[in-house]
Amino acid sequence: MKIAIFGAGQLAMMMIDASKDLGHEFIVIDPSSQPPASKLSKHYMVEYNDEDILKFVASECDVATIDFENVDICSLEYLENHIKVSPPSNALKICQDRLYEKRLFAELGINVTDYHPVGDLMDIENLVCEDKSNYILKSRRFGYDGKNQLKCDEEKELLNNLLLNNDCIIEKIVDFTTEVSLICVRQDEDTMFFYPLVENFHRDGILRYSTFPYLNTSLQNLAEEYATSLLKHFNYVGVLVIEFFVSKDGSLIANEMAPRVHNSGHWSIEGCSMSQFESHIRSITGQLTTFADDFKPCLMINVLSKYPNREKMSELGKYYMHSYGKEERDLRKLGHITKVADHKQELLKDLERYLDILDN
Ligand code: ADP
Ligand code: MG
Repeated sequence: MKIAIFGAGQLAMMMIDASKDLGHEFIVIDPSSQPPASKLSKHYMVEYNDEDILKFVASECDVATIDFENVDICSLEYLENHIKVSPPSNALKICQDRLYEKRLFAELGINVTDYHPVGDLMDIENLVCEDKSNYILKSRRFGYDGKNQLKCDEEKELLNNLLLNNDCIIEKIVDFTTEVSLICVRQDEDTMFFYPLVENFHRDGILRYSTFPYLNTSLQNLAEEYATSLLKHFNYVGVLVIEFFVSKDGSLIANEMAPRVHNSGHWSIEGCSMSQFESHIRSITGQLTTFADDFKPCLMINVLSKYPNREKMSELGKYYMHSYGKEERDLRKLGHITKVADHKQELLKDLERYLDILDN
């Protein structure tokens, strides 16, 4: 099949790489110059809503997918009239707005933290007056890697700036013990699979590393129950990832969802028989005939800001390095490494040293 990917970052690059043997042809659309996936497929350097490219994709391609969440909804709706589009535009529309996302979670009975839309500082005063240190102000749209978020007890000028430039919500800060995510893949109502939960560690809103698996049968079951209702609601096709907090009292609180492959699933390239990338491409092309299995404990560490020192890296022992071929920039995701072991304990024992070597 001919597949168009909107966005040509590392996620698109890894999707293409994972489906080498599936016999597809890819094109990638991305307004930036020389993005990671342009090395593996034909790259159209145009805006996502460029009329000519949309017409071309509608007439020449069989399926369109994304590696980037902020693709214009009208473009996907247009494509949906001509070819298969996964994720469906209705799922993307919800994911692009934290308020819609939280509302839908709540409607479907999925546990969320206390949240409210806000327009100005007065709204924050009226809603959480004495409790500002327990709330975060977030823009509803265009947030990633912790961007466009401030604690509600920050300086008024900073808060005002965020409020003036964005529609926002406030969210109660969850006192969590850890964060986990569920990688889901759905081809149709009878063909659906959930990877075991993975545990995620963020600093300053950015994912630093993940450890796999997070074994907890009751939370796994609950996460899958929540996910099933979401996937069904959207009649979803493809990979969808839900991020959760595990609160101090052991409950599962949904934070957000991504209608695409996700950084917390990168371990799956080496850690099981079918990566999230291959699962995604198989499911959107109707080729998901088996599911991932043969899971092994993994540690995935993001390479941020600077490529690590090669000599120091040799101290890591056997590891898999994935470089995205980007230029170094403060807090930019440049690559990731994965270590696989027989027992998770082996990975955790040396975690601090690994993080130190990678300066993470
Ligand atoms: P992004 O779209 O930038 O990933 P998130 O809402 O996932 O935004 O926030 C990034 C990280 O910030 C989370 O993974 C978590 O570590 C922290 N965070 C965000 N919202 C909350 C919250 N309500 N309570 C506690 N921590 C939070
Ligand atoms: Mg997040």
